[in-house]
Amino acid sequence: MGVFCVKNTCYFERSLEIVANFATMKEVDYIVVGCGLASIAFCEQLRAHNKLFVVFDDGSQQSSIVAAGLYNPVILKRFSEVWKAKEQLRLALPLYQKIEKELDIKIDYKLRILRRFTSIQEQNKWFSAIDKPSLETFLSTQLVKNSNSEIEAPFGFGEVLHAGRIDTEKLITSYKAFLKQKDCLIEDTFHYNKIQFENGIVQYKNLKASQIIFAEGFGVKQNLYFNHIPLTGSKGEILTIKAPNLKIDFAIKSSVFVIPIGDDLYNVGATYDNEDKSNTPTEKAKEELLLKVKNFIKGEFKVVNHVAGVRPTVKDRRPLVGRHSEQKNLYVLNGLGTRGVMIAPYVANQLFQYIENDKTLDAEININRFDLMIMS
Ligand SMILES: Cc1cc2nc3c(=O)[nH]c(=O)nc-3n(C[C@H](O)[C@H](O)[C@H](O)COP(=O)(O)OP(=O)(O)OC[C@H]3O[C@@H](n4cnc5c(N)ncnc54)[C@H](O)[C@@H]3O)c2cc1C
Repeated sequence: MGVFCVKNTCYFERSLEIVANFATMKEVDYIVVGCGLASIAFCEQLRAHNKLFVVFDDGSQQSSIVAAGLYNPVILKRFSEVWKAKEQLRLALPLYQKIEKELDIKIDYKLRILRRFTSIQEQNKWFSAIDKPSLETFLSTQLVKNSNSEIEAPFGFGEVLHAGRIDTEKLITSYKAFLKQKDCLIEDTFHYNKIQFENGIVQYKNLKASQIIFAEGFGVKQNLYFNHIPLTGSKGEILTIKAPNLKIDFAIKSSVFVIPIGDDLYNVGATYDNEDKSNTPTEKAKEELLLKVKNFIKGEFKVVNHVAGVRPTVKDRRPLVGRHSEQKNLYVLNGLGTRGVMIAPYVANQLFQYIENDKTLDAEININRFDLMIMS
Protein backbone atom coordinates (compact mmCIF):
# COMPACT_ATOMS: atom_id res chain seq x y z
CA MET A 1 0.00 0.00 0.00
CA GLY A 2 2.81 2.43 -0.75
CA VAL A 3 4.12 5.19 1.46
CA PHE A 4 3.67 4.00 4.99
CA CYS A 5 7.21 4.18 6.27
CA VAL A 6 8.30 6.91 8.63
CA LYS A 7 11.80 7.22 10.03
CA ASN A 8 12.49 3.60 9.10
CA THR A 9 9.49 2.50 11.08
CA CYS A 10 6.64 0.84 9.25
CA TYR A 11 3.63 3.09 9.32
CA PHE A 12 1.30 0.14 9.74
CA GLU A 13 3.19 -1.18 12.73
CA ARG A 14 3.48 2.24 14.37
CA SER A 15 -0.15 3.11 13.81
CA LEU A 16 -1.18 -0.31 15.10
CA GLU A 17 0.78 0.45 18.24
CA ILE A 18 -1.03 3.75 18.63
CA VAL A 19 -4.41 2.15 18.95
CA ALA A 20 -3.36 -1.02 20.74
CA ASN A 21 -1.46 0.99 23.33
CA PHE A 22 -3.85 3.88 23.52
CA ALA A 23 -3.34 3.86 27.27
CA THR A 24 0.30 4.87 26.80
CA MET A 25 1.44 8.11 25.19
CA LYS A 26 2.00 7.96 21.42
CA GLU A 27 3.39 10.51 19.01
CA VAL A 28 2.13 11.37 15.53
CA ASP A 29 2.88 14.20 13.15
CA TYR A 30 -0.77 15.10 12.57
CA ILE A 31 -4.19 14.57 14.10
CA VAL A 32 -6.95 15.12 11.52
CA VAL A 33 -10.49 15.71 12.75
CA GLY A 34 -13.19 14.60 10.29
CA CYS A 35 -13.19 12.09 7.46
CA GLY A 36 -15.04 13.84 4.64
CA LEU A 37 -13.77 15.09 1.28
CA ALA A 38 -11.57 17.77 2.87
CA SER A 39 -9.90 15.36 5.27
CA ILE A 40 -9.33 12.63 2.67
CA ALA A 41 -7.59 15.08 0.34
CA PHE A 42 -5.37 16.21 3.22
CA CYS A 43 -4.63 12.63 4.34
CA GLU A 44 -3.46 11.92 0.80
CA GLN A 45 -0.97 14.79 1.16
CA LEU A 46 0.21 13.28 4.44
CA ARG A 47 0.60 9.83 2.92
CA ALA A 48 2.46 11.21 -0.07
CA HIS A 49 4.93 12.91 2.28
CA ASN A 50 5.39 10.02 4.71
CA LYS A 51 3.72 11.71 7.65
CA LEU A 52 2.36 9.75 10.57
CA PHE A 53 -1.25 10.61 11.38
CA VAL A 54 -4.53 9.57 12.94
CA VAL A 55 -8.04 10.58 11.89
CA PHE A 56 -11.02 11.08 14.19
CA ASP A 57 -14.53 10.76 12.81
CA ASP A 58 -17.87 10.40 14.59
CA GLY A 59 -20.27 10.45 11.62
CA SER A 60 -22.02 13.57 12.93
CA GLN A 61 -21.92 15.31 9.52
CA GLN A 62 -23.17 13.75 6.29
CA SER A 63 -22.33 16.25 3.57
CA SER A 64 -19.63 14.26 1.77
CA ILE A 65 -21.38 10.93 2.04
CA VAL A 66 -24.74 12.14 0.62
CA ALA A 67 -23.27 14.47 -2.04
CA ALA A 68 -24.25 13.99 -5.67
CA GLY A 69 -20.50 14.01 -6.30
CA LEU A 70 -20.51 15.99 -9.54
CA TYR A 71 -17.43 17.77 -10.75
CA ASN A 72 -18.53 20.39 -13.16
CA PRO A 73 -16.31 23.31 -14.18
CA VAL A 74 -19.22 25.56 -15.22
CA ILE A 75 -21.76 27.52 -13.15
CA LEU A 76 -24.85 26.53 -15.10
CA LYS A 77 -27.09 29.28 -13.78
CA ARG A 78 -24.93 32.08 -15.11
CA PHE A 79 -22.83 30.25 -17.73
CA SER A 80 -19.54 31.25 -16.11
CA GLU A 81 -16.42 29.36 -15.11
CA VAL A 82 -16.13 27.93 -11.60
CA TRP A 83 -13.41 29.67 -9.53
CA LYS A 84 -10.02 28.19 -10.52
CA ALA A 85 -11.75 25.33 -12.35
CA LYS A 86 -8.73 24.32 -14.41
CA GLU A 87 -6.30 24.37 -11.45
CA GLN A 88 -8.77 22.38 -9.35
CA LEU A 89 -9.38 19.73 -12.01
CA ARG A 90 -5.65 19.39 -12.61
CA LEU A 91 -5.18 18.27 -8.99
CA ALA A 92 -8.51 16.55 -8.35
CA LEU A 93 -8.71 14.05 -11.20
CA PRO A 94 -5.25 12.47 -10.67
CA LEU A 95 -5.93 12.29 -6.92
CA TYR A 96 -9.19 10.36 -7.32
CA GLN A 97 -7.52 8.11 -9.89
CA LYS A 98 -4.71 7.41 -7.43
CA ILE A 99 -7.22 6.52 -4.71
CA GLU A 100 -9.09 4.24 -7.15
CA LYS A 101 -5.87 2.41 -7.90
CA GLU A 102 -4.62 2.09 -4.33
CA LEU A 103 -7.95 1.07 -2.82
CA ASP A 104 -8.95 -1.00 -5.87
CA ILE A 105 -12.31 0.72 -6.23
CA LYS A 106 -14.21 2.55 -8.98
CA ILE A 107 -15.31 6.05 -7.95
CA ASP A 108 -14.69 8.34 -10.95
CA TYR A 109 -17.41 8.19 -13.61
CA LYS A 110 -17.00 10.46 -16.62
CA LEU A 111 -20.39 11.98 -17.31
CA ARG A 112 -21.92 14.23 -19.93
CA ILE A 113 -23.88 17.04 -18.30
CA LEU A 114 -26.66 18.47 -20.46
CA ARG A 115 -28.05 21.86 -19.50
CA ARG A 116 -31.73 21.93 -20.45
CA PHE A 117 -32.71 25.19 -22.14
CA THR A 118 -36.06 26.74 -21.28
CA SER A 119 -36.14 29.32 -24.09
CA ILE A 120 -34.46 30.56 -27.27
CA GLN A 121 -32.94 33.37 -25.17
CA GLU A 122 -31.16 30.80 -23.01
CA GLN A 123 -29.81 29.05 -26.08
CA ASN A 124 -28.44 32.41 -27.27
CA LYS A 125 -26.81 33.10 -23.88
CA TRP A 126 -25.10 29.70 -24.03
CA PHE A 127 -23.69 30.35 -27.48
CA SER A 128 -22.43 33.81 -26.40
CA ALA A 129 -20.76 32.20 -23.36
CA ILE A 130 -18.80 29.83 -25.62
CA ASP A 131 -16.90 32.87 -26.92
CA LYS A 132 -15.46 33.56 -23.44
CA PRO A 133 -11.85 32.25 -23.41
CA SER A 134 -12.34 30.77 -19.92
CA LEU A 135 -15.26 28.64 -21.11
CA GLU A 136 -14.37 27.52 -24.61
CA THR A 137 -12.81 24.25 -23.38
CA PHE A 138 -15.83 23.43 -21.22
CA LEU A 139 -18.87 24.21 -23.41
CA SER A 140 -19.76 22.23 -26.52
CA THR A 141 -20.66 24.26 -29.59
CA GLN A 142 -23.34 21.73 -30.64
CA LEU A 143 -26.97 22.16 -29.67
CA VAL A 144 -28.16 18.76 -28.42
CA LYS A 145 -31.71 17.92 -29.51
CA ASN A 146 -33.95 15.79 -27.35
CA SER A 147 -35.00 12.43 -28.78
CA ASN A 148 -36.20 10.77 -25.55
CA SER A 149 -39.98 10.67 -25.16
CA GLU A 150 -39.65 10.43 -21.35
CA ILE A 151 -38.06 13.89 -21.28
CA GLU A 152 -39.60 17.25 -22.12
CA ALA A 153 -36.99 19.59 -23.59
CA PRO A 154 -38.38 21.47 -26.60
CA PHE A 155 -35.43 23.90 -26.67
CA GLY A 156 -32.79 21.17 -26.42
CA PHE A 157 -29.63 21.15 -24.34
CA GLY A 158 -26.10 22.55 -24.16
CA GLU A 159 -23.37 20.06 -23.25
CA VAL A 160 -20.68 20.62 -20.59
CA LEU A 161 -17.35 18.97 -21.38
CA HIS A 162 -14.80 17.48 -18.92
CA ALA A 163 -17.38 16.79 -16.24
CA GLY A 164 -18.02 13.70 -14.16
CA ARG A 165 -19.19 12.18 -10.91
CA ILE A 166 -17.25 10.86 -7.94
CA ASP A 167 -19.14 8.18 -6.03
CA THR A 168 -18.54 9.93 -2.71
CA GLU A 169 -20.36 7.33 -0.63
CA LYS A 170 -18.04 4.64 -1.91
CA LEU A 171 -15.03 6.95 -1.51
CA ILE A 172 -15.80 7.77 2.13
CA THR A 173 -16.73 4.24 3.20
CA SER A 174 -13.75 2.68 1.40
CA TYR A 175 -11.31 5.29 2.68
CA LYS A 176 -12.52 4.82 6.25
CA ALA A 177 -12.12 1.06 5.88
CA PHE A 178 -8.61 1.63 4.51
CA LEU A 179 -7.65 3.85 7.46
CA LYS A 180 -9.23 1.39 9.86
CA GLN A 181 -7.24 -1.46 8.39
CA LYS A 182 -4.10 0.63 9.01
CA ASP A 183 -5.35 1.33 12.54
CA CYS A 184 -5.24 5.06 12.07
CA LEU A 185 -8.99 5.78 12.21
CA ILE A 186 -10.49 6.55 15.59
CA GLU A 187 -14.28 6.42 15.30
CA ASP A 188 -15.04 8.79 18.10
CA THR A 189 -15.97 12.40 18.74
CA PHE A 190 -13.02 14.71 19.12
CA HIS A 191 -13.47 16.76 22.32
CA TYR A 192 -11.96 20.20 21.84
CA ASN A 193 -11.65 20.96 25.57
CA LYS A 194 -9.25 18.04 25.99
CA ILE A 195 -6.45 19.61 23.92
CA GLN A 196 -3.38 20.60 25.91
CA PHE A 197 -0.50 22.70 24.66
CA GLU A 198 3.04 22.14 25.85
CA ASN A 199 6.53 22.81 24.50
CA GLY A 200 5.37 23.57 20.99
CA ILE A 201 3.31 20.40 20.57
CA VAL A 202 -0.28 19.43 21.28
CA GLN A 203 -1.52 16.64 23.45
CA TYR A 204 -4.94 15.05 23.09
CA LYS A 205 -5.65 12.32 25.58
CA ASN A 206 -2.87 9.76 24.87
CA LEU A 207 -1.70 11.30 21.63
CA LYS A 208 1.02 13.86 21.09
CA ALA A 209 1.05 15.63 17.74
CA SER A 210 2.88 18.42 15.99
CA GLN A 211 -0.30 19.72 14.33
CA ILE A 212 -4.07 19.29 14.40
CA ILE A 213 -6.10 19.80 11.23
CA PHE A 214 -9.79 20.48 11.74
CA ALA A 215 -11.86 19.35 8.76
CA GLU A 216 -15.26 18.85 10.36
CA GLY A 217 -17.46 20.53 7.76
CA PHE A 218 -20.44 22.17 9.44
CA GLY A 219 -19.37 20.40 12.67
CA VAL A 220 -16.77 23.17 13.12
CA LYS A 221 -19.57 25.13 14.81
CA GLN A 222 -18.78 23.05 17.96
CA ASN A 223 -15.05 23.79 17.70
CA LEU A 224 -13.88 26.09 20.53
CA TYR A 225 -10.94 27.29 18.42
CA PHE A 226 -12.61 27.90 15.08
CA ASN A 227 -16.33 28.41 15.73
CA HIS A 228 -15.89 32.08 14.85
CA ILE A 229 -15.15 31.36 11.17
CA PRO A 230 -18.06 32.64 9.07
CA LEU A 231 -19.53 29.35 7.91
CA THR A 232 -23.23 29.67 7.11
CA GLY A 233 -24.20 26.12 6.17
CA SER A 234 -26.81 25.12 3.63
CA LYS A 235 -28.81 21.95 4.02
CA GLY A 236 -29.27 19.89 0.87
CA GLU A 237 -31.56 16.94 0.19
CA ILE A 238 -31.43 14.39 -2.61
CA LEU A 239 -33.92 11.74 -3.76
CA THR A 240 -32.95 8.54 -5.53
CA ILE A 241 -35.58 7.47 -8.04
CA LYS A 242 -36.02 4.26 -10.03
CA ALA A 243 -37.10 5.15 -13.58
CA PRO A 244 -36.92 1.98 -15.71
CA ASN A 245 -37.93 3.67 -18.99
CA LEU A 246 -35.77 6.79 -18.78
CA LYS A 247 -32.62 5.08 -20.08
CA ILE A 248 -30.16 7.99 -20.08
CA ASP A 249 -26.41 7.82 -19.46
CA PHE A 250 -25.97 11.59 -19.11
CA ALA A 251 -26.93 14.01 -16.34
CA ILE A 252 -29.59 16.64 -16.98
CA LYS A 253 -29.36 20.03 -15.31
CA SER A 254 -32.65 21.91 -15.22
CA SER A 255 -34.31 23.36 -12.10
CA VAL A 256 -32.77 20.26 -10.48
CA PHE A 257 -30.14 17.74 -11.53
CA VAL A 258 -31.05 14.21 -12.66
CA ILE A 259 -27.92 12.05 -12.44
CA PRO A 260 -27.69 8.41 -13.55
CA ILE A 261 -26.04 6.11 -10.98
CA GLY A 262 -26.73 2.73 -12.65
CA ASP A 263 -29.47 0.06 -12.56
CA ASP A 264 -32.13 2.57 -13.75
CA LEU A 265 -31.48 4.62 -10.61
CA TYR A 266 -31.08 8.40 -10.73
CA ASN A 267 -30.20 10.96 -8.08
CA VAL A 268 -32.49 13.99 -8.14
CA GLY A 269 -31.35 17.11 -6.33
CA ALA A 270 -30.61 19.14 -4.59
CA THR A 271 -32.46 21.54 -2.32
CA TYR A 272 -30.93 24.55 -0.52
CA ASP A 273 -32.12 25.45 2.97
CA ASN A 274 -30.21 28.01 5.05
CA GLU A 275 -32.37 27.66 8.19
CA ASP A 276 -32.55 23.98 9.11
CA LYS A 277 -29.07 22.63 9.98
CA SER A 278 -30.06 19.01 10.66
CA ASN A 279 -29.28 15.89 8.63
CA THR A 280 -32.92 14.79 8.65
CA PRO A 281 -34.74 14.35 5.31
CA THR A 282 -38.00 16.33 5.15
CA GLU A 283 -41.34 15.90 3.33
CA LYS A 284 -41.15 19.54 2.26
CA ALA A 285 -37.89 19.01 0.36
CA LYS A 286 -39.20 15.77 -1.16
CA GLU A 287 -42.28 17.57 -2.49
CA GLU A 288 -40.14 20.39 -3.87
CA LEU A 289 -37.84 17.96 -5.70
CA LEU A 290 -40.74 15.92 -7.09
CA LEU A 291 -42.52 19.02 -8.35
CA LYS A 292 -39.39 20.22 -10.12
CA VAL A 293 -38.38 16.91 -11.66
CA LYS A 294 -41.90 16.18 -12.95
CA ASN A 295 -41.62 19.39 -14.92
CA PHE A 296 -39.27 17.70 -17.38
CA ILE A 297 -39.25 13.93 -16.64
CA LYS A 298 -42.58 12.69 -17.93
CA GLY A 299 -42.34 8.90 -17.46
CA GLU A 300 -43.18 6.77 -14.42
CA PHE A 301 -40.71 6.51 -11.53
CA LYS A 302 -40.71 5.74 -7.83
CA VAL A 303 -38.66 7.22 -5.00
CA VAL A 304 -36.37 4.62 -3.42
CA ASN A 305 -34.14 6.74 -1.17
CA HIS A 306 -33.97 10.20 0.40
CA VAL A 307 -30.92 11.71 2.14
CA ALA A 308 -29.83 15.05 3.60
CA GLY A 309 -26.66 16.81 4.74
CA VAL A 310 -25.39 20.30 5.55
CA ARG A 311 -22.95 21.82 3.06
CA PRO A 312 -20.20 23.93 4.69
CA THR A 313 -20.99 27.11 2.77
CA VAL A 314 -19.44 30.57 3.16
CA LYS A 315 -20.92 33.94 2.25
CA ASP A 316 -18.12 34.89 -0.16
CA ARG A 317 -18.16 31.36 -1.68
CA ARG A 318 -14.49 30.71 -0.98
CA PRO A 319 -12.97 28.02 1.26
CA LEU A 320 -11.84 28.72 4.82
CA VAL A 321 -8.25 27.63 5.32
CA GLY A 322 -5.59 28.74 7.76
CA ARG A 323 -3.87 28.74 11.12
CA HIS A 324 -5.36 29.70 14.46
CA SER A 325 -4.31 33.24 15.39
CA GLU A 326 -2.86 32.19 18.79
CA GLN A 327 -2.47 28.41 18.88
CA LYS A 328 0.01 27.87 16.06
CA ASN A 329 -0.43 24.08 15.89
CA LEU A 330 -4.12 24.31 15.03
CA TYR A 331 -5.38 24.62 11.45
CA VAL A 332 -8.74 24.68 9.73
CA LEU A 333 -9.65 23.16 6.35
CA ASN A 334 -13.26 24.00 5.64
CA GLY A 335 -15.78 26.02 3.61
CA LEU A 336 -15.85 23.67 0.61
CA GLY A 337 -19.43 24.78 -0.04
CA THR A 338 -21.32 23.22 -2.92
CA ARG A 339 -18.25 21.95 -4.79
CA GLY A 340 -16.16 19.89 -2.38
CA VAL A 341 -15.19 17.25 -4.95
CA MET A 342 -13.21 19.73 -7.05
CA ILE A 343 -12.01 22.11 -4.33
CA ALA A 344 -10.82 19.64 -1.66
CA PRO A 345 -7.58 18.51 -3.38
CA TYR A 346 -6.70 22.12 -4.25
CA VAL A 347 -7.12 23.49 -0.72
CA ALA A 348 -5.50 20.44 0.89
CA ASN A 349 -2.42 21.01 -1.24
CA GLN A 350 -2.38 24.71 -0.33
CA LEU A 351 -2.64 23.97 3.39
CA PHE A 352 0.05 21.28 3.34
CA GLN A 353 2.48 23.55 1.48
CA TYR A 354 1.68 26.36 3.91
CA ILE A 355 2.42 24.24 6.99
CA GLU A 356 5.37 22.21 5.78
CA ASN A 357 7.08 24.50 3.27
CA ASP A 358 6.07 27.97 4.43
CA LYS A 359 4.31 28.71 1.14
CA THR A 360 1.80 31.57 1.21
CA LEU A 361 -1.87 30.65 1.24
CA ASP A 362 -3.99 31.98 -1.56
CA ALA A 363 -5.41 35.23 -0.10
CA GLU A 364 -8.90 34.29 -1.30
CA ILE A 365 -9.04 31.16 0.88
CA ASN A 366 -7.11 32.37 3.94
CA ILE A 367 -9.33 32.76 7.02
CA ASN A 368 -7.44 35.94 7.84
CA ARG A 369 -9.31 37.72 5.01
CA PHE A 370 -12.12 38.32 7.49
CA ASP A 371 -9.79 39.81 10.15
CA LEU A 372 -8.34 42.06 7.45
CA MET A 373 -11.85 43.17 6.49
CA ILE A 374 -12.63 44.15 10.11
CA MET A 375 -9.35 46.10 10.40
CA SER A 376 -9.81 48.04 7.16
C1 LIG B 1 -27.23 17.23 -0.93
C2 LIG B 1 -25.81 17.63 -1.25
C3 LIG B 1 -25.36 17.52 -2.56
C4 LIG B 1 -24.05 17.87 -2.89
N1 LIG B 1 -23.62 17.69 -4.16
C5 LIG B 1 -22.33 17.98 -4.48
C6 LIG B 1 -21.84 17.71 -5.78
O1 LIG B 1 -22.54 17.23 -6.66
N2 LIG B 1 -20.54 18.02 -6.03
C7 LIG B 1 -19.71 18.55 -5.08
O2 LIG B 1 -18.54 18.81 -5.37
N3 LIG B 1 -20.17 18.81 -3.83
C8 LIG B 1 -21.45 18.54 -3.51
N4 LIG B 1 -21.91 18.80 -2.26
C9 LIG B 1 -21.04 19.53 -1.33
C10 LIG B 1 -20.00 18.63 -0.69
O3 LIG B 1 -20.67 17.54 -0.18
C11 LIG B 1 -19.23 19.39 0.38
O4 LIG B 1 -18.52 20.46 -0.20
C12 LIG B 1 -18.23 18.47 1.10
O5 LIG B 1 -18.84 17.28 1.43
C13 LIG B 1 -17.65 19.09 2.35
O6 LIG B 1 -16.72 18.16 2.85
P1 LIG B 1 -16.03 18.33 4.27
O7 LIG B 1 -15.06 17.22 4.39
O8 LIG B 1 -15.56 19.72 4.44
O9 LIG B 1 -17.22 18.16 5.33
P2 LIG B 1 -18.09 16.91 5.76
O10 LIG B 1 -18.44 16.06 4.62
O11 LIG B 1 -19.21 17.46 6.58
O12 LIG B 1 -17.12 16.06 6.69
C14 LIG B 1 -16.82 16.40 8.01
C15 LIG B 1 -16.56 15.16 8.80
O13 LIG B 1 -16.14 15.53 10.12
C16 LIG B 1 -16.77 14.70 11.08
N5 LIG B 1 -16.81 15.44 12.35
C17 LIG B 1 -17.37 16.66 12.59
N6 LIG B 1 -17.15 17.03 13.86
C18 LIG B 1 -16.42 16.03 14.44
C19 LIG B 1 -15.87 15.82 15.74
N7 LIG B 1 -15.98 16.74 16.74
N8 LIG B 1 -15.23 14.65 16.02
C20 LIG B 1 -15.07 13.72 15.02
N9 LIG B 1 -15.55 13.89 13.77
C21 LIG B 1 -16.22 15.02 13.48
C22 LIG B 1 -18.15 14.45 10.46
O14 LIG B 1 -18.74 13.29 10.97
C23 LIG B 1 -17.82 14.30 8.98
O15 LIG B 1 -17.52 12.97 8.62
C24 LIG B 1 -23.20 18.41 -1.88
C25 LIG B 1 -23.65 18.49 -0.59
C26 LIG B 1 -24.94 18.11 -0.25
C27 LIG B 1 -25.40 18.18 1.17
